[in-house]
Amino acid sequence: MTMVFSYTQISNYLRCPRSYRLRYLDGWQEKDTRAGMVFGRCFERALVSLFSMEDPEARLFREWGVYRDTPFVYKTGESWDRLLHQGVHLLQRFAQQNRIQVRDPHKDLQIKVVRSLSGGHHFLSYLDAVATFDGTPCIVDWKTTTSRYPEAPAGVLGLDPQLISYSWASGIPEVAIVAFVRKQQPEIQYLKASISEEQRQEFGRLVEATVSQIEAGQFASHSGIRFPQNGCLGCAHLGLCLNDKQLIEARLIRKAGASDLDWLDELMD
Ligand code: SF4
Repeated sequence: MTMVFSYTQISNYLRCPRSYRLRYLDGWQEKDTRAGMVFGRCFERALVSLFSMEDPEARLFREWGVYRDTPFVYKTGESWDRLLHQGVHLLQRFAQQNRIQVRDPHKDLQIKVVRSLSGGHHFLSYLDAVATFDGTPCIVDWKTTTSRYPEAPAGVLGLDPQLISYSWASGIPEVAIVAFVRKQQPEIQYLKASISEEQRQEFGRLVEATVSQIEAGQFASHSGIRFPQNGCLGCAHLGLCLNDKQLIEARLIRKAGASDLDWLDELMD
């Protein structure tokens, strides 16, 4: 059977193969209870409106307005209103700074890229934008976050595996993250990197090796609760591994045919 893989799936498998099996084969998905993640999706739609010469603030209000009464888990000091306020502030600042140009918003935003893998499988990516950043054409990834991205030492962004995957999928070496940082004083970080041909080839080999392990049914757990391998503590599937019914109900929902929703994962990243 041929399958479609994504960066999210590969990184999930590399983090813990058992978690991959629970999510992609058994259909255990994390519930959408994190306000920041849902807000990030609404904000990215507002960015599309901005580049399409529509009113981005109205779009943000409309998209985020759908969730006004949703009982999300908010971080301390956060609320529906506060996120909206921060989003509007960031959209205004981003428009004023005008460092990113998108030539054709219909073609150059949310670009679907499919790469063939051996065995008839495919690797699907959605690039947020292919744009011009301070005059340089590059792939741009939007991120909404509450903490700044590391900027030192020089070149560290070039080690970001998701950017490497985008570069490998598209063949474009120049990549950038525009990080919309939702903190006390909202800030926008513009970070660039160049991905080398060696990095792209190495990532391609990593994808092929990972797909082989998945095909071979290797799903041993990579458990960890102590720094720096404390992945279990932030893992949505912890309740299943502990057989804790309360935790399962609080964090997970089981859906048949879960792999159909992989595209949503990609759009969210
Ligand atoms: S709780 Fe730990 S062992 Fe269980 S799936 Fe998650 S990361 Fe893997």
